[in-house]
Parts: sequence; structure tokens; C-alpha cells
Amino acid sequence: MPPSEVESAVVHPLTRLVHAGRDPSRQGGAVNMPVYRASTICFPDMASLEHARANPDSEISYGIYGTPTVRAFQDAMAELEGGHRALALPSGLAAISAAVLSFARAGDHLLMVDTVYGPTRRFCDAIEARLGIGVTYYDPRDPDPGRLLQANTRLIYAESPGSQTFEIQDIPALAGIAHRAGIPLLLDNSWGTPLHFPAFAHGVDVSIHAATKYISGHSDVMMGLVVCNAASWTAVREQVVTHGLCVSPDDCYLALRGLRTLAPRLERQVANALQVARWLQEQAAVRQVLYPVLPESPDHALWKRDFRGGASLFAIELDTRSEAAVRALVEGTKVFALGASWGGYESLIFPAYPGPERRVAPWKGGQLVRLHIGLEDPRDLIADLAAGLARAAAHPEFGGTF
Ligand SMILES: *Cc1c(COP(=O)(O)O)cnc(C)c1O
Repeated sequence: MPPSEVESAVVHPLTRLVHAGRDPSRQGGAVNMPVYRASTICFPDMASLEHARANPDSEISYGIYGTPTVRAFQDAMAELEGGHRALALPSGLAAISAAVLSFARAGDHLLMVDTVYGPTRRFCDAIEARLGIGVTYYDPRDPDPGRLLQANTRLIYAESPGSQTFEIQDIPALAGIAHRAGIPLLLDNSWGTPLHFPAFAHGVDVSIHAATKYISGHSDVMMGLVVCNAASWTAVREQVVTHGLCVSPDDCYLALRGLRTLAPRLERQVANALQVARWLQEQAAVRQVLYPVLPESPDHALWKRDFRGGASLFAIELDTRSEAAVRALVEGTKVFALGASWGGYESLIFPAYPGPERRVAPWKGGQLVRLHIGLEDPRDLIADLAAGLARAAAHPEFGGTF
């Protein structure tokens, strides 16, 4: 079908964010794609049914393959990121496991970054034990992880910035290494979002998102996405269909609704985060702020080269090794809530423990605390943290260990 006038007028990412995956003229005039709930899809005759089955990417033959609401969300994400197609999955972790298993069979080998999201590492431990899939971890700052490739390595997996410690990876360089070996590069792009890290332009083959985070943006949806380039699409689709994975159209409606305001939420939240981070840099109880958006960060140059914007999730290293002092900080906050996850409109504080799991890039510093900065007035966030840091510093176990 030739692009409509509307489609050819949608050029820039911000316009795409508003228009992708919806067409009021096909939605009874409604601005938003309605929630289509369906298991059965009815056909007028066998020819129509056979046509739908033969064209699974454009037609729907059963609810498990997604209703128009699910397809709208998937199409919007693929369009925004510049991928070929996308599949929605019930959580970010489900998207990660489906993507990895699309390319790895029993006896294969994977190259994983050591700073992966904790549950991703647990998944790798499980497939190592159950399927005999070998996993080698590489340092996110390793200039040549290619030397770790084996004859049976089926993929390179990246996460940039790294979970909890926020190292930025050189994704174009990694893509070169993967493609010279004839294997795909998978990226957990949850922090970067399709808006701020153009994964496919940087050579990524499969971009994975915890849409639970910024994309849905309101702390009320569990959702994952695997966005594929054309070469990786068939393998991923087959894996997801084979396992019967599907998502609720209601959740896709919420995720699409969240997606529409991604740009202004990120813009404001990153501005707030920078203000809070700069203040934190001045505090005696804080050894460093791990946030590539800060010019002082060792990863800032790489972030600036490859990203179009930041995110409002970062960590602080406290000037202590005491877990009790961390508890004193995180337990008494009034604006920051103590809770897992991030990417919503509200601020969160969470202790981070990268220590024992890491194999090649162990964390040897002080206690880490992860902050997610929301849409509140940063002055209230700073006051809350000032009181929290004072509680931590007043703890008898604070300090004295460095
Ligand atoms: C939260 C998170 C995930 C998993 O998302 P869920 O929807 O919670 O399963 C994956 N990657 C990163 C980097 C995350 O922070």
C-alpha cells in the first residue's frame, strides 16, 4: 500500500510518537485504537481463513497472535525504533528469554555482558544448567570481547548502560564484532528507549525493552518488547509462536497510552535527574554519582556520541560499606518510595547489590543506591535525600572503611 498523506507527513520522532500505530479513520473516528478483546477470529469463508493463516504478519487468525490493539502497539514500537517488526511479551524478562532462545539451542554458546539485569543472569544460569548452553561474560568496558567468541557462539548480548553501575557500551563496535562472526547482537535497550537510543542505526539486530518501565510509564503495566530487524524476525516470531506467548490487549492499550507522552516525560525527568545528580555530587556522604549523562562520568563521551538523550535512572556510591547505613537512608524517605522497578512518573529509591553475582567486572566500591527520578519538583527530592543522607551519615557504622 502506498503511504497515505498522513504517513508521508510523519517525519520526525516526536511526530511518530504521537501518530504511530493509530488511524482514526479505521477506528470509528476514535483518536485511540480501541481495546479489541478476542480469542476467536471469524471468517466468512475458507479462502479468507487460509489467506489469514498464510499471511501471519499482516493478518490475524487467532487471538494468541495478537488482536488489532496488540498489533497497534507492536507496530508503533517497530516504527519508532526503525525496526522491521516487534512482538509484545508479558514482561521485560519474558522478552529477554524469548529473544535469547530464538537463537540458542542446546550445546550452543552465548557472550553476555557482565553488567546484565540480575534476572537475565538467573535465566542464563538456568539455560546453562538445563540446556548445556555455555555462557561467557565479558566486561562492559572490554575493548575486544571478540576474543571470547567460540565456534558455537550464537549471539552477543549487551545492556547499555549496565544494570546498577551504568557503564555505557560501545554498541557500534560490538555490532561489528558480531556481524564479522555472522551472529546477531541483542541489546536490552530499556534505559535508552526507542527515542533516545536508535538501536538499529547503531547496528543492533534485536532490541529488547522492558516496556514496564518508561514506555508504559505509570507503574501499572508489566510488558516486554522484542523489536527485530528483518534478518532476525523469523527466528524470534517462531520462538514466540511456538511457546504460545501473548499479551493482554488491555495492557497494550495502557502501554500505547503511556508511549504517547514518552518524550515530555523523559525530557522533564532527565532535567530533574540532572539537577538532583549535580546536588548529590557535592555531598560528603556520596563518593560518586554513576550517571553517564554527567560530564564527569567516564562514559559521558560514549553516551554523547551514541545517545540522543538520557534517562532519569542512576546510582550513587555511598562513602560506606555498611548495609545498615543504607537502610537508614532508604527507610525514612517521604517523597521517594522504596520499591523495585523504574520508569514511572514517580521517584523511587532502591539499594543496589551488584557485588557477588558479577564474574569479570566485580564491584569493589561502597554501597550503591539506585535512584529513579520522577516528575516531582526536584527541590522536594533534594530535601528528601538531604534528610536521608544525614540519617545514613549519623549511623554508627557509617564511614571509616575507605
Ligand atoms: C526491569 C528490567 C527488565 C525486566 O522488565 P520486567 O518487565 O520487570 O520483567 C529488563 N531489563 C532491565 C534493564 C530492567 O531494568
